Amino acid sequence: MDADFLIIGGGIAGVSAAARMSELGSVIVLEAEEALAHHASGRSAAMFEPRYGAPAVVGLSLASEDYFRSVPGVLSPRGLLLVAKADASAAFEHDLVAMEFDRISVDEARGIVPILNRETVAMAGYAAHAEDVDTDLLMQGFAREAKARGALIVAKARVTAIAKDGAGWRVISAAGEFTGRMIVNAAGAWADQVAALAGVTPLGFAPYRRSMARIPAPGGHDVSKWPMIFGPGEDWYAKPDAGALIVSPAEEDLMEPHDAWADDMVLAEGLARYEEMVTEPVTRLLASWAGLRTFSPDRVLVIGPDAQKPTFFWLAGQGGYGFQTCPAASRLAADLIGGRTPGLEPALVAQLSPSRFG
Ligand SMILES: Cc1cc2nc3c(=O)[nH]c(=O)nc-3n(C[C@H](O)[C@H](O)[C@H](O)COP(=O)(O)OP(=O)(O)OC[C@H]3O[C@@H](n4cnc5c(N)ncnc54)[C@H](O)[C@@H]3O)c2cc1C
Repeated sequence: MDADFLIIGGGIAGVSAAARMSELGSVIVLEAEEALAHHASGRSAAMFEPRYGAPAVVGLSLASEDYFRSVPGVLSPRGLLLVAKADASAAFEHDLVAMEFDRISVDEARGIVPILNRETVAMAGYAAHAEDVDTDLLMQGFAREAKARGALIVAKARVTAIAKDGAGWRVISAAGEFTGRMIVNAAGAWADQVAALAGVTPLGFAPYRRSMARIPAPGGHDVSKWPMIFGPGEDWYAKPDAGALIVSPAEEDLMEPHDAWADDMVLAEGLARYEEMVTEPVTRLLASWAGLRTFSPDRVLVIGPDAQKPTFFWLAGQGGYGFQTCPAASRLAADLIGGRTPGLEPALVAQLSPSRFG
């Protein structure tokens, strides 16, 4: 089967790219697993926090906001609450400025989240600008858009070999052979492995595990309107999730690409950091899971044609920002592939380009 664009990876990066690239030509998405969003894209905290990350990431997130606002139901209010002990003032002050929190009193914070522990919480900040993202709605919307323009999404199609084929590429997958003019590498934690298959020099992506626990609503409170709660220096966070609370140790443990699972010890330590700041103990876990947040060497996404093999296009290194950046990232990918002047500032486009790695 032949297409203009063979997109490898059916997470949010690949599916949003499929929607945008189907405006330019024929698209086939090859996904190794049975379902889309099986890996990082099915395991996120689902937040739109545009002030999170390096400046180039913030640029992409802010450029994505109009799209999010244009699709009813994708964003909904959440807010962020930063809480810290007295001995964490340096990290607290840093986060307060970096993520534009307003300083509030501990009593005000307890008015928002009544289980905060007066004995341990010494400082608090609040920001209204972070919102929940309905990640399923977003994924389905992009997939529907791509399919409506004729894109084919093939599951159980793990790519095992890639070879040059004239001006284009020949790809061998578990679902058969495909040819295409251009490969879009949206393989998440496996981006460097996919590059190596194609004889393209890997860029040094690093997949870091982040674990999550879902716990029952503490003390039987209605948590639905609580903000996301952060420890300083992002050493844990908690967030309402379908009537329960998800708590993450917010670890960054370097891994080989794999189907990640939560580390019990790391989870227990993270839950202890959360428990120290609240009055309700964690009595049981409803579920736990983990995902890989895959970063490039400078922790900024990589979007653009490979410097040596320009028909191999990188769309990788989404780190902890793959959802909140996907509208602008996929638009930029399509602008570059379609030969259009990108809507983003040239300096930002250069910061995202694979050529920055020399
Ligand atoms: C705990 C956690 C919390 C997060 N919170 C947020 C958040 O609040 N907001 C936010 O914006 N982001 C968040 N993220 C980050 C976000 O989830 C990721 O950046 C995003 O999902 C990455 O999408 P992706 O499509 O690049 O990767 P993936 O979703 O991993 O998709 C890559 C796909 O490529 C496929 N693949 C790999 N190799 C092959 C092959 N050889 N052949 C075929 N297919 C292949 C894989 O099977 C996989 O499905 C979080 C991540 C985690 C883990």
